[in-house]
Amino acid sequence: MRTHVAEAIVLRTYRYGEADRIVVFLTEDRGKKRGVAKNATKSRRRFGGALEPFTRGRVSYVEREGRELVGLDRIEPLDGPMRAAEGRADDQAAQVLGHASYFAELLDEWAPDAMANERLFRLGASVGEALCRGGSVESLARYFEYWLLRLEGVYPSLDRCARCGLSLDDGAVLVTGEWHMVCVRCGTGSLRVSREAMGLLRRAATATPAVVTEAGADASTLRELEAVHARLIAMHLEKDLRSARVVRELRPQL
Ligand SMILES: [Zn+2]
Repeated sequence: MRTHVAEAIVLRTYRYGEADRIVVFLTEDRGKKRGVAKNATKSRRRFGGALEPFTRGRVSYVEREGRELVGLDRIEPLDGPMRAAEGRADDQAAQVLGHASYFAELLDEWAPDAMANERLFRLGASVGEALCRGGSVESLARYFEYWLLRLEGVYPSLDRCARCGLSLDDGAVLVTGEWHMVCVRCGTGSLRVSREAMGLLRRAATATPAVVTEAGADASTLRELEAVHARLIAMHLEKDLRSARVVRELRPQL
């Protein structure tokens, strides 16, 4: 039996018996873990406000030899969606919570079991911090998707057209199935990346999430990239994410 204390991000929870919950969380040092939170809903002292997906906190857990499930002792929240939603108007707060679930589901899909991935953890933590600072949640979502795909090495090159070699600064088209971006002369199709969207991606490549979130972007640019990233993520995971649909449904209709 050994106690571990680590910084971790809560990915999801589900009921376990009458009063307990299973908590799936991503640790900084030892990858994804599953733990039993005894009396989770009642014990505010040990888990108060920390079980919302995408909450980052200090987690104490006990591991027993030969058992996959660890015992969760407590989670002390550092930041998370509850804090990020505080002080925002109702529709904005709903957007924040919807996106936090989406971010947590992405991290869950990306993280292999019990294998440390420090870069993935750091990306999740920095996006969580940016979420708490305010600014454009949708810009943050595009930043997060971009970097998740880059960490896997599957984001198409944004430098030059994959067919004719021209610069893509003026815009591009995603060729699905080939994982390539081509220039607007070489490609047709609905998955377009405008000059403005290309600018956001170039900013995402070099700036912190807080900078991208603060700068924001106009709605049409964000929708374009949302569609392109959704396709790339679906190609990579070979499925659509439930929480991504929830995010779209929560959005005020323009
Ligand atoms: Zn071309």
